[in-house]
Parts: sequence; structure tokens; C-alpha cells
Amino acid sequence: MTFHELSLFFDRIEKTPSRLTMTEILAELFTVTNAQEIDKVLYLLQGSVVPLYKKADFGMAEKLLTKAFISGLQIDKKQFDQVYQKNGDLGTTIEELRGSITVIGESDLSIEEVFEKLYKLTQVTGTGSQDIKASIIIELAQSLDALSCRFIARIPTNTLRLGFSDMTILDAFSWMLTGGKTLRKQIEEVYQVNPDLGLLGKTIKEKGIEGLSKIGPVLFTPIIMMKAERLASVEKIMEKVERGIIEPKYDGFRLQIHHNKHDTKLYSRGLDDVTHMYPDIVAGIEKEVTAKEIILEGEAIGYDIQTGGFLPFQETVQRKRKYNISEKVVEIPLRLFAFDILYLNGQNLIHKPHIERRLLLNSTIKVSGDVAVDTILISPLQKMENSHQIEIEFEDAISKGLEGIMIKRDDGPYQPGARGFNWIKYKRSYSSKIDDTIDCLVMGYDFGKGKRSGFGIGAILVGVYDVKTDKFVTVAKIGTGLTDDEWRLMFKKSQVLKSSAKPALYDCDDLMNPDVWVKPEIVLEIRADELTRSSIHTAGRLLKRTKSGGGFEVDVPGYALRFPRLEAIREDKRPTDATSLTEVEEMYVAQKK
Ligand code: AMP
Repeated sequence: MTFHELSLFFDRIEKTPSRLTMTEILAELFTVTNAQEIDKVLYLLQGSVVPLYKKADFGMAEKLLTKAFISGLQIDKKQFDQVYQKNGDLGTTIEELRGSITVIGESDLSIEEVFEKLYKLTQVTGTGSQDIKASIIIELAQSLDALSCRFIARIPTNTLRLGFSDMTILDAFSWMLTGGKTLRKQIEEVYQVNPDLGLLGKTIKEKGIEGLSKIGPVLFTPIIMMKAERLASVEKIMEKVERGIIEPKYDGFRLQIHHNKHDTKLYSRGLDDVTHMYPDIVAGIEKEVTAKEIILEGEAIGYDIQTGGFLPFQETVQRKRKYNISEKVVEIPLRLFAFDILYLNGQNLIHKPHIERRLLLNSTIKVSGDVAVDTILISPLQKMENSHQIEIEFEDAISKGLEGIMIKRDDGPYQPGARGFNWIKYKRSYSSKIDDTIDCLVMGYDFGKGKRSGFGIGAILVGVYDVKTDKFVTVAKIGTGLTDDEWRLMFKKSQVLKSSAKPALYDCDDLMNPDVWVKPEIVLEIRADELTRSSIHTAGRLLKRTKSGGGFEVDVPGYALRFPRLEAIREDKRPTDATSLTEVEEMYVAQKK
């Protein structure tokens, strides 16, 4: 297939406001794509040349790319500036300018040819690399047509956001095979263990749905992490768990560690490779873990050498940084409490009951257990006995400055990507009526008024994730809890994510439409006083036909946050890691009691 043909699909996807139509277009694209190119098509659809958890670094600022296009197409800089001013978008600017000129020697490049060149952008480094990159862009600009150039401008500048989630892609795989979504669940189960969409697409193309059953955990491909359910009382925990263990709940950040003789990599909950940020953990693993091949999980938390206690989340989180890492390693040393093992020396362990995995973890990692000495430790556990004991363990954890406790069922498998009662979190209640914060996706914002007009942003529309429909539904507009710097940061982050139309994954009442739509990317942790019901928010809202049958009216109002305020910007979470609508429903029920 040519890159031009692929661009026609990109264009159709970009234009449709309907998630279902998007699924159909993607399925049509996968049908006409052959097995050799489908992995490349999948990475390109995501604006990359590698699976998303690898993050392709094109190292191309907009300025360098623009300069290359201008010189390759011999466009006047003034003319470029004029069109850019009018369009406000690099992709369509370059498309328009490319369309207005004829280039001698224009050829039609295949997807593979274009992919190779884009891939090369991520590989060249060192002196002279900028010139090589510019020459690649010049070559592409001269060979490809106007529409293709729109997308070529967007991929290396990380601005190609076609507006679907990985779930839409999985639906499209099913659609390609059956004309419906019947296989989605089966495909999704494999995706949670191995979220390399390119590999999944290629396998389906080559071997059909049966081929997927052979895909298991692979070292250095992060497994989507299992999540915990929350319960608000010990009685409810006892109802759900017959036999289980209690562990402290550390308030740090989760890491999934992949390690063999040659390499160690650390992945965040959002599946980002964060190895470079935590050299102390890497050194600890290489020193303390002797297994040949292992995937394990744990929580990293800041350790206070002076007091021998743990640091609050706000301090631990300072370790998440790109620069001055070595200074912070000394200032805020980390301890990693390993709590699960998913893979060992070629053996997939995720289906094994928790109790077996824990025994294996204990026998595989031999550490002294001295928190003053080791970086890697094993999370201590207690057998769950009765409700009184759960309360005592809980109080004990709180008194040590921890967040609460985790209860894990003995017989529970590791369920990648799933939130279930095999793991239950029991956290301290706060003074507000809602026990917990809510992670929301930024869906758009309104221009600021008064002082905020200086920031360009005044209120942020946020929503939660409805897993069933794969859509984001609104719960609040938030305008407090942000410092001036945070307003500025939110404005800056939003600028590259602006969307002229409502993204297909958003469900929003017209009355709530923001001045500017923001594509799904930024997750905020929000605290609120209470969950209330509201007819203008779409979270959990049900509509029915009006009596006249001409339109719709609210049957059941949605959920809304009362007095929402920002607690933190959650760089570690992906949009679909936002709190789910089901959790909001449960929190509403819990709050009423
Ligand atoms: P939450 O982020 O409130 O949904 O709680 C779940 C998170 O608690 C997990 O993703 C881990 O990062 C963290 N956590 C802390 N201690 C443990 C533990 N012992 N077992 C599992 N998860 C833990």
C-alpha cells in the first residue's frame, strides 16, 4: 500500500466524529493492509514507529521540521508564516503549501519506504544528525503529495492524534474478522498481557484469532498493570475475601521491573520506560536479584535516612524527573517493596494463585530485609484472620505514615489491566465525604476571565472513563486548587492537544461544551467534597425519548463533583487509567450510606 492511500484513511479517521464509524474505517484499513505492513500501519496510526511504551524520540522540534520543508519545497518563509497564521496548525499549513506547487520527480512511496525514513529519524544521533534529519524530511516533502505531507509534518512533531483509544483498535481487529465486536474481549485479554498493537495485528493477519492464544508475557514488553478495587468497610472486605493476606499500602509509585542478565528496565503504571529516572533501583535489582529472567512489581517510596521512616507522596514524587537525577538520588533515596512476580525464567505466572506467586517471590529474591541497607525489599504480609485484625493492621500502617492496607485473595490470579476484588484497597477516610480522590481526564477548557485571562485558561472540563462504551463522560468543570504556575502549565500542555472538533471519544452535553477541546492525554487527580447528581453532566446519565418523540430528555441525571479542586497532575496515568464510571457509581453509593 502506498503512504498516500494510508493518508486517505488518516484523513477519514480524523474527520469522523463517531467512534463507531472510526472502528469501521480502521477495520477496512486493516483488511486492505497486508501482514508485512500492518505492524507499521499500527505504529504510524499512533503517531509512532514503535509500540507506544517504547516512545520513539524523533528529536525534531517544529522549527527544524519547518525549516526542512521550506527548503525542500522552496517556499518563501513569509508565505509560510502567513498560511500558518491563518491555519494555526503545522500539518494543514504544509499540506496547503505543498498543494500549491509541482515538484519534478514526485513519486509515490510505499508505507514501508516512508516508515523506514521516519524510523531513521529516531536512530540518528550526534554531530551532524540535525542535517541528516532535515535531508530525510526534504526527501519526503519532495516525494509525497500534499495530503501525505500533512501527516508527515505531524508524526515527528508528536502532534498526530487521530482520536481513538487502543480499545477502538481492538474493536477494529474484531470488526475486521467478524463484522462486529464479538472477539473484542478475547483480543483484549491478550492485549493486557502484551500491549504491542503491531504484534497483535501481525499475528491476527498471519494466523487469525487462534494465533493470539500463543502470545504471553514477553520480557521488556510491559504488562498492563492490575488494579485494586476499593472497599469502605472491614465487613465488606470479609464478605469478598474468604482467605487472603494483608499488606501495607505504600504511598509511592508503582514500578514493573523487567530484568535479565543483560538489562534491567523499569516501567511506570502508564507503561512508560522510566529506567533512567531511578538508577538506584536498577542498581539494587542488579545486585539483589539473581534470577535469570524475571518480571516483578512493587511500589517505590522515598526513605528518610534520618528517621528510618517513609516520606509522604509529595516528597517521593520529586524523584520523577528528567534532569538532576543524581542529586535527587542522594536527597531522596528510594526503597522498592516488591509485591508480585509475573514471570520467571520463561514461565508465565499470571494465572497462578496469588499465594503461590508470593511464595515464589519470597524464594526468588533473597534480601536481608533491612530497610536501612537494601534498596529492594519484599513487602511484608500477614495472613488475614478476622475483622479485628484487619483494623489493627490498618491502624498500624497509618501510624507508620502509610496510606492504608491492601487485602489480596489467596486464590486470585494476576489480572492484567483489570480492576477486581482479588486486590482490595482499604484507605484512610479523609474529612471530606468522599474517601478518595478521583483521577479525571482533561477534556477541554474555557478561556479565563479577570486575572485568569492572563493565563488564557480559566476553568477545566474534566471527565471519567466509561469502560463499557470506551468514552469519556463529564463530571466537573474545575477552577480552583491550581497555583498560578499550574494554570500556566495547564495552558501550555493544552496547546499541543487542542482539537477543533469534539473528539470522538467524548460524550458531553452541549451546555457544557468548553471554549477549547483538548485531546485525551492529561490526567488530573481531583478532590471533591461530595458526589452529587446533575442533569448536565454525562457521567452515568441516561436519556429517554421525549413524549413527542422528536428529541431526548434526561431520564436519570449524571454524577457531578461538588467543590472539585486539583490535587496533582498525574503524569504517570494514561487517559484510560482515569477513574472509571463504575467506581464513581460505587463511591456515590458508599457515600449515601
Ligand atoms: P490506587 O492508586 O489508590 O488505586 O491504589 C492502587 C495502587 O497502590 C497500586 O497501583 C500500587 O501503586 C499501590 N500499592 C501500594 N502498596 C501496594 C501493595 N502492597 N500491593 C499492591 N499495590 C500497592
